Amino acid sequence: MLMWKMWGVLVVLLVPIPAESIAIIIDTKTKPYMNTSSTQSLSLSPIRFSRFRCRTDRRGSIAESTMTHPDVSIADPHSLDLKRSSIRSAGPSKLQVIADFDATLTRYWVNGRRGQSSYALLHQGNPEFDIKRQRLFEYYHPLEFSTTIPIEEKTILMKEWWEKTHSLLIEGGVTYDIIRNSVANAVVDFREGVVELLELLEEKDVPVLIFSAGLADIIEEVFRQKLHRSFKNVKIVSNRMVFDNNGQLVAFKGKTIHVLNKNEHALDMAAPVHDHLGDVNGTNYDSASVKKRTNVVLLGDHIGDLGMSDGLNYENRIAVGFLNDNVEGSLKNYNESFDMVYLNDAPMWGVVELISHLCSSDE
Ligand SMILES: [Mg+2]
Repeated sequence: MLMWKMWGVLVVLLVPIPAESIAIIIDTKTKPYMNTSSTQSLSLSPIRFSRFRCRTDRRGSIAESTMTHPDVSIADPHSLDLKRSSIRSAGPSKLQVIADFDATLTRYWVNGRRGQSSYALLHQGNPEFDIKRQRLFEYYHPLEFSTTIPIEEKTILMKEWWEKTHSLLIEGGVTYDIIRNSVANAVVDFREGVVELLELLEEKDVPVLIFSAGLADIIEEVFRQKLHRSFKNVKIVSNRMVFDNNGQLVAFKGKTIHVLNKNEHALDMAAPVHDHLGDVNGTNYDSASVKKRTNVVLLGDHIGDLGMSDGLNYENRIAVGFLNDNVEGSLKNYNESFDMVYLNDAPMWGVVELISHLCSSDE
């Protein structure tokens, strides 16, 4: 047995597997999952997903993988099954995906360190302003999670926080070089399986809206540096910077998107992710065509992310939650809010499998 294991390691080392595939092999085996058997309230899915063929190579070759999901909790498998059947019957032309970015498409933990959000990773190169933004965080962050502040009041506070932060970014100076360097030095990476998910959705011509209360320019740079590619079906709805001819940040475009107002009403601010990546073809998905897609798969890591589909008159929605931390304390809430809950910074493979099923016409 030991000999076989050693031989397996040798094969992995000697065969020229693309770097992306190697990362997948290593990460899958070393993921520090919590032992969910100790979580009494955990309700594991009785739904069994079939084996499926999944891309494991960003260059396009297909390799078979067996995806198992020890870290998913599904409170009502029957309801989920009905939604899956309805969405699948309607076909991919009626489907759209709405996803949060920070800690949903990106990992919560990156090499043992807490992953940074698109705001947190931005270092202005001006310590005075980095400290000022940190002070704002220390003041407003507890207010965001306060259970006593009414939502209307909290919405005003969040808008205030975001706008003060934007003012500091303009005042303290930000250039595109600063963005590039900040992302290069950031603790940020996509969740395993995100590339394959976006490729699958692109192949099936399903639009993806990434809604973020973060910074669109940073998110685009993360795509550029981490994935080295763009997706024609992906749009980003987030706070977008305006630079002058000298490459200096001078303003933000349109309405501020903060943690309590990110929803499909903000679609007008959307821009295709490849706008700044040199692609010449525009996206086919405008606001009107997206609204005709009445089946939704929503991905988020906060219960507030469910609001991303507000303003969309959907027929069926499968809400997939990523509960990255404090599983025991939050699982009940998440189970009541999301149709499926992936635990402990789980990879995206379960969603790849879900989309594969929803877009498949096979019996
Ligand atoms: Mg998030």
